[in-house]
Amino acid sequence: MKRITLFFILFFVLTNVVAKDVRIGLFYRSNPKTITVEYNVGRYTFFSEVSYYKTLSNKSDKVIFKAYNNKVKAYLNGNKIGENIWFRLDRNTDLNSLKISDGKIKRPYEGSLIVYSINGKLKVVNEISIDKYVEGVIKGEAGYGYGLEYYKVQAVISRTYALHHQKHKKEGFDLCDHTHCQVYKGVNTNKKIAKAVTQTSEEVIVDSSINYINTLFHSNCGGHTVTTDMVWSKKLPCMESVKDTFCINSSQAKWKKTISKTSWVSFLSKKTGKSVSYLQSKSLDFNQYTRQEYYKIGSVKVRLVDIRKNYRLKSTYFSVHDIGDKIVLIGRGYGHGVGLCQEGGIVMSKTYDYKQILHFYYQNISIMTINKVEYYKLF
Ligand SMILES: [Zn+2]
Ligand SMILES: [Zn+2]
Repeated sequence: MKRITLFFILFFVLTNVVAKDVRIGLFYRSNPKTITVEYNVGRYTFFSEVSYYKTLSNKSDKVIFKAYNNKVKAYLNGNKIGENIWFRLDRNTDLNSLKISDGKIKRPYEGSLIVYSINGKLKVVNEISIDKYVEGVIKGEAGYGYGLEYYKVQAVISRTYALHHQKHKKEGFDLCDHTHCQVYKGVNTNKKIAKAVTQTSEEVIVDSSINYINTLFHSNCGGHTVTTDMVWSKKLPCMESVKDTFCINSSQAKWKKTISKTSWVSFLSKKTGKSVSYLQSKSLDFNQYTRQEYYKIGSVKVRLVDIRKNYRLKSTYFSVHDIGDKIVLIGRGYGHGVGLCQEGGIVMSKTYDYKQILHFYYQNISIMTINKVEYYKLF
């Protein structure tokens, strides 16, 4: 009996290849009180918790939603149709789209739409297949002009990020459309991005316990990536330090900054409690032949991440040159240095495939489809 049940679960999971949906909070930063929704492509069923209203299929169909405390007032083609807790425009297929505007920006969005209100502010939620969402994210975050293989890297990373970080569950959706989560600006029309998403459909990165990993990335590692404990406090799995020769000639590989010695010494003094005269008596030179966690002069040490934050440096991978009344920093890379190095990945993608790139920057990982991950999680 048990074996039969197991067989049916297995059969269901493996045959029921239903695309995974995600819920995205739109206009997250603008917090609109009113939005306008215009019919664009396909057919939409329009209903609320109390009524069915119409199937939207005409170019002239337009719905206005206005927040009213914890309710929403809806106007269909100029006529008020109700004041309800939520309204929903349900897509017929994934390719259906609506043009949605908060009064400032109007964009087409594929997928379904749910509108509700919290304290007089509209919550505008786009329910969409994860692959369509990922297309929109790549358009918003990476932009155009990259090769197919690199877009595949971005597709798997963005998809995994979406499932690892579901920061807005309490508000009724998974992710917002802002940099707080991943920038998402609706429908993608770039064919290369669409192809990269389709060719990696539903693929995600998991660790050895089949958990979605935190797919951290940065612009350029300067030749060496770092572990998470060098930047934050906790060491995360799958993010080991690797030597990267792919990025060292890219645009963000090198930087230089000059700081007055007075400022440098006063900062060190505040951080360590040592007197300015003591610090001035020391040589402040420092080198990182391999990446270090601390800037050290004798017994004095300061975390490199604190120096980076204070002086808004491009990275923590720099040497310090004590020259008269100036301090010259010669640096490498841009960003925190953990996980995928984007500029290295771009160079790699000319000769390696996306899986090899992901396995190079993330360690002890598996790349598998969401269905397979969910199947393993049953046991
Ligand atoms: Zn967010
Ligand atoms: Zn790199």
